[in-house]
Amino acid sequence: MLPKEAIEHIVDISSHYSNLEYDLREGKRGKRYVHIIDAVKRLINVESALVVNNNAAAVFLCLNTLAKGKEVIVSRGELVEIGGSFRIPDVMSSSGAILREVGTTNKTHLNDYENAINENTALLLKVHQSNFRIIGFTKETSIEELVSIGRKKGIPVMVDLGSGCFIDLKKYGLTNEPTVQEVLSEGADIVTFSGDKLLGSAQAGFILGKSYLLEKIAKNPLMRAFRVDKMTLAALEATLRLYLDEEEAIKKIPTLKMIMEHPESIKKRALKISRLLKKEGILTKVKEDLSMPGGGSLPEVGVKTYVVALNPQVIPQDFAKKLRYGEPPVIVRIKDDLILFDVRTIQDSEIHSLIKAVKEAFYSDH
Ligand SMILES: *Cc1c(COP(=O)(O)O)cnc(C)c1O
Repeated sequence: MLPKEAIEHIVDISSHYSNLEYDLREGKRGKRYVHIIDAVKRLINVESALVVNNNAAAVFLCLNTLAKGKEVIVSRGELVEIGGSFRIPDVMSSSGAILREVGTTNKTHLNDYENAINENTALLLKVHQSNFRIIGFTKETSIEELVSIGRKKGIPVMVDLGSGCFIDLKKYGLTNEPTVQEVLSEGADIVTFSGDKLLGSAQAGFILGKSYLLEKIAKNPLMRAFRVDKMTLAALEATLRLYLDEEEAIKKIPTLKMIMEHPESIKKRALKISRLLKKEGILTKVKEDLSMPGGGSLPEVGVKTYVVALNPQVIPQDFAKKLRYGEPPVIVRIKDDLILFDVRTIQDSEIHSLIKAVKEAFYSDH
């Protein structure tokens, strides 16, 4: 779900001719990414930026440009598979880079990286574990440590951050996600992240970092294959503008708004939904529960929420299927044979159609 401001900007940009690739002052072909680079630089302190179709493309392009035929050192604890078959080892081999895995699943020390460096090493890569966690007897090498040896040996450090965020969610007691700014200030030479995970904008992949590296990446012939449309750029630009004011970002970017909504405000909406269902003869209970934000990308984070719990009086999986097949389709959770509607993700404007869909599923012939 995009912020309203992003949608309006898309409509505006795509309803007219645009000077996306035309330099008005020079009267000739200009650069596609100047506006988005400006928007990023206004927000955070970074030398340069590029945008491609998604973070998978961003990682691929960085590896292909900087490490084709050369070695990239990655911890064995970070060889992650993201849903939709993005697997670090596979992306690495299709990019032409050679994966040099170091350490063990649970522990990777700085000297594991150090000992693996040779004359064919092109990159030190750190990958955010995203959808899994390793707990217990563990050791992870920090970005700062990697940067310290990277600098010494003249090897760039790249961080694939997965869901990049510009707002420090830690101070809201939410997650331990490092912000993009933190990663850059720890000295990472390149950081890549998605536009449509925590950032809450259009599908895109950001590549931020040192100009000398990004200039090489921008010249990769594949850049054109991975380039984004002006509508995506419009959405991203408008979203980044909202981030200039943190309070405004939290209010206006639906992803953030939903993650940050106060449980009491969710409870109020839950009671309203429960009351409206009761009027239709459908009895429910409002219960405290946990939302799992991030669509799998924040596996250990549960945020207090309120759910409307319905006893479907039939096999719950059958009732859930009916809801999915309905108009509009409604996707629910099932817990202890109850159908749960997490009210965090139900907007005021959606309550009416939700009630209608539940009514239809509830009263349809079994
Ligand atoms: C999600 C993710 C990707 C892929 O990003 P997309 O924008 O979905 O292509 C790559 N790396 C990590 C660590 C991720 O979490």
